Amino acid sequence: MSPRPAAPKGARTAAGGDDAPMSAAALRTLRYGDERIAFSLRVNPERQAQRIAIHVEPDGRVVVDVPRGVSEAVLQAGLQRRARWISVQLAAVRRRLVHTLPGARVSGASLLYLGRRYVLEVVVDESRDGSVHLSGGRIEVAVAHGEAARVQAVLDAWYRARAAVVMAARLAAIVPTLPWVRTLPPLRLRVTKRRWGSCSPSGCLTLNPTLVKASRECIDYVLIHELCHLQARGHGPRFQRLLEAQMPDWRRIKEQLDGWVDELMPP
Ligand SMILES: [Zn+2]
Repeated sequence: MSPRPAAPKGARTAAGGDDAPMSAAALRTLRYGDERIAFSLRVNPERQAQRIAIHVEPDGRVVVDVPRGVSEAVLQAGLQRRARWISVQLAAVRRRLVHTLPGARVSGASLLYLGRRYVLEVVVDESRDGSVHLSGGRIEVAVAHGEAARVQAVLDAWYRARAAVVMAARLAAIVPTLPWVRTLPPLRLRVTKRRWGSCSPSGCLTLNPTLVKASRECIDYVLIHELCHLQARGHGPRFQRLLEAQMPDWRRIKEQLDGWVDELMPP
């Protein structure tokens, strides 16, 4: 990286007062061993001396207060001197988040995806913010800051994107096996409190994206169930015969899905 002033012209507008939001340009990264620590630069015109002040916020954000016009050399020297301290503070924040936010999305939490259990691993890495990787028995979520709410938002978006891909693929695979369905019905995703899916009289399918946490069999069962409604409204004998013919072991699969209701649809 070429040297540049820590407080370029114009930065002051973005970081005028104490509570002013940081401009994106002021987001920087500090390396400490294998760690990459994201921090915000806050230009404080009141600070006269060539000194910087480093704060580690309770949510794990790192803010560095610098006087206007501070040199990059002074900034880097200050950061390197305090890097170990910042790392220790961040480790303490992560430990505290584990204890104070039960059930929140922190490393070690148990996640379900397509009926398999995974262990959540949260990686604080600004350059990969928002990315999710599934490998072995782990789902790795990278975030710029270790806030539980951010981890949750990234996970929710990932589950939803996976639900869209998986459910569209299963629908496309199932439709040709059902003689009464001639065209691919439109599929919508909507989170609902108590339903896995529904089918409108016009033939539009709605599935709960949360279903992507259950097994493929369960997804197929819900899709076939809803597609049977295109031929038979209600759950009478005609509906039962259709469902039975398409999925003879649907009772076993429904039982499996019912077993996940408490976890996937908490009251
Ligand atoms: Zn039904």
